[in-house]
Amino acid sequence: MELKVAKDRCPQNHACPSVRICPVGALSQEGFKAPVADRKLCIKCGKCVRFCPFRALRLE
Ligand code: SF4
Repeated sequence: MELKVAKDRCPQNHACPSVRICPVGALSQEGFKAPVADRKLCIKCGKCVRFCPFRALRLE
């Protein structure tokens, strides 16, 4: 299982709120692009998955 970012689900027009929700700083964002997950840092807690209203973040 790993964190997947579905870019087609992200409107890419805002500062991603899930970046701040991640407890280990595994998510980063360049401008308003879809966030990128550092799979080495991610502990698969699912907080960002539950937080993203567009369901662009998934653990699968
Ligand atoms: S699953 Fe948890 S640790 Fe991984 S990127 Fe999302 S919030 Fe961060």
